[in-house]
Order: sequence, then structure tokens, then C-alpha cells
Amino acid sequence: MNQFLSRRNFILIPTMSILKFIFMPMQVLASSLSSRDGWNLSKEEWKKRLSPESYYILREEGTERAFSSQLNNEKRKGIFHCAGCDLPLFSSDHKYDSGTGWPSFWDSIKGSIETKVDFKLIVPRTEYHCSRCGGHQGHVFNDGPLPTGKRYCNNGLALRFVLD
Ligand SMILES: [Zn+2]
Repeated sequence: MNQFLSRRNFILIPTMSILKFIFMPMQVLASSLSSRDGWNLSKEEWKKRLSPESYYILREEGTERAFSSQLNNEKRKGIFHCAGCDLPLFSSDHKYDSGTGWPSFWDSIKGSIETKVDFKLIVPRTEYHCSRCGGHQGHVFNDGPLPTGKRYCNNGLALRFVLD
């Protein structure tokens, strides 16, 4: 797919200025439709699938109490999956102790999350969510450790840990 796209873009470069306005919206639409395939559940369907606590976080952008999640102290090797649709989001290799009381990561598994800016605390923050089901996970800040400098501050109730 990537190879196909880059080859097509290469061919289109000379006429890009006109064609990008035609092709870009179609690509965005196509990718968002395919990534949500089968995960456009109704409120009722999500409520059946999730605990009330996880529903509040994943579907209503709630936040759990600091230091309330056992995953905050999880140090074993494994993968953290979305509690909504089970997509792998974070590896234990990227987890670190931020001292904030929420499971924290300095990187995510490529393509697994999407971001948007929210203004819930007046100051803009970058919200992120699962790229497959759209479930809210947490917020990402720029005070994390190297090499990325990112801190993905995640709700433990939005994750399911799978041991390696
Ligand atoms: Zn998900």
C-alpha cells in the first residue's frame, strides 16, 4: 500500500498542485473509514462491552484517579492493548515511571493512536485515542524522556496488559 502510494505520488508530483486537492480528501476519508471498520458501535453496544468505569474513560473522555491503576506499577515485559477493541497500543519497552500516578510511555506502537487538541482544562492539551475504535486513552505532553521527549499519560482502565 505504502509503496503504491509513494509511486503514485512520484508520478503525480508535476501536477500535484491541482491534483492534491482532488486526491487528498479522498485518501483521508478512505483511511478513516477502513480503520473504524466494524467499530462504529452505538452507546448501548459499548456499555454492554465495557465496565462502567472503562466506558466513562474510553467513550466519555473521563480520567481515573491518579495512582488508582495497578498498571501504573506494571514492570513486566508485555504489550498494552486498547481495552475497547484490543488493538496493541504500547510496548513495555516504552513504559517509564513518570511519578504522575498514571501509566506513562515515551512512545506508542506505530499507527495505533490518533491525536486531537482539547480545551477541557482551558489550556489546550493534546488528547489521544485508539486509531481503531476511537476510544479515549489519555493526553500526550512534551516533558517525557529521550529519545522522543513525549509523555503519553494513559488511563490504566483504558488498557489491557498482555504478558509476553
Ligand atoms: Zn481501540
